[in-house]
Amino acid sequence: MHQFKFDPVQLPATSEGLRQQVRRFLADEQARGSFHPAESSWISFDPPFSRRCGEAGLIGLSWPKRYGGHKMSTLEKYVVTEELLAGGAPVGAHWIADRQSGNQILRFGSERARDLILPKIVRGECFFGIGMSEPNSGSDLAAVSTRARKVDNGWRVTGTKVWTSNAHRAHYLIALIRTESKSEARHAGLTQFVIDLSHPGVTVRPIHNLYGGHEFNEVVFDDYFVADDMVVGEVGNGWAMVTGELAYERSGPDRFLSSYQLLLESMRAIGPAPDDRSANEIGRFVAHLAALRRMSTSIAGMLDRGEEPVVEAALVKDIGTTFEREIPEVFRHLIDVEPTQREGSSYAELQGMTVLRAPGFTIRGGTREILRGMIARGLGLR
Ligand SMILES: Cc1cc2nc3c(=O)[nH]c(=O)nc-3n(C[C@H](O)[C@H](O)[C@H](O)COP(=O)(O)OP(=O)(O)OC[C@H]3O[C@@H](n4cnc5c(N)ncnc54)[C@H](O)[C@@H]3O)c2cc1C
Repeated sequence: MHQFKFDPVQLPATSEGLRQQVRRFLADEQARGSFHPAESSWISFDPPFSRRCGEAGLIGLSWPKRYGGHKMSTLEKYVVTEELLAGGAPVGAHWIADRQSGNQILRFGSERARDLILPKIVRGECFFGIGMSEPNSGSDLAAVSTRARKVDNGWRVTGTKVWTSNAHRAHYLIALIRTESKSEARHAGLTQFVIDLSHPGVTVRPIHNLYGGHEFNEVVFDDYFVADDMVVGEVGNGWAMVTGELAYERSGPDRFLSSYQLLLESMRAIGPAPDDRSANEIGRFVAHLAALRRMSTSIAGMLDRGEEPVVEAALVKDIGTTFEREIPEVFRHLIDVEPTQREGSSYAELQGMTVLRAPGFTIRGGTREILRGMIARGLGLR
């Protein structure tokens, strides 16, 4: 049976300097009007901002210097990530590449893929999407049916991915693809590929979301050629790759800070003399935030030590996304403002957009039911 153990970690001595560096960078950016914290988050796609993050040395923090990285620890990277999110920085363009795709390529990619792609990610010039979900395979990821067949020097891919965030403006996807027919061993025969979205043979079609925005897409591969050296890891071992990747995807502060700007602005709107109910709710949120941060930094420590805390990450994502989803619900009842839909900087607009985005928080990256199934299995309860 799995034992949950969230050992406390000591943030490195360099943390305070890094924190100040990010705060100065964001203050300069805000002073020149490049973003407004209440309007942006890790899904706000702003390539010029990402390039400036690259110039400021805020991407690829934990990667080796030979690929342009800054060779810092996962915990130092954590500090930068949390500062960017807490500051409401529009980091969405490079987010996926920096959070997970680049790590996969660094750990399991070919030398050519590393040389070609990692330095561009670090410069804030190369963006990734995630090609996991398919029309008949979301929660049940092992059911993917997009297929690749072996040809000389590579593979030919046919099939459809769906809900692919930012595929219309990213350069690459890491996609999970079936390289052997389905068999009794459900998790066998899957492989991760780096897909260049600029190549012929890929069609990207928009899917509009709840608030009418275009973030999702359907991505169709029609006999698309991908070279052997764009395979990530061993052919057929994609399930293990994806599982490891999800530990990075599910455990960071982006899984509990999506409504953080609304929490801050709600506290401002309520003011320094809250009534008992408001004080209770604010106190509860702040206490939960502290606990989540402690669990999430503990996982960063495990990742630093080379562990794969997959079940712990599932727990942080379940509790964290429930937390960020609850914030708009609670303040909607405490603050007498009619939420509006236009994306803007007033409280009503921030509230309105957060209400419309919140259902996605507990779905993207694995639904609550799936996470709770993993946690129960980890605890030996099923
Ligand atoms: C904002 C957002 C961004 C996304 N971006 C991406 C992306 O970039 N790339 C990508 O690949 N995907 C992306 N997704 C897709 C996301 O990963 C899937 O929506 C998610 O995994 C659920 O899959 P599904 O939509 O097929 O739902 P289904 O799997 O059909 O689930 C429907 C419902 O049934 C429940 N359910 C399913 N199986 C079980 C079970 N075994 N036990 C109990 N309950 C179960 C689920 O919890 C859910 O409530 C994104 C989704 C959102 C909302």
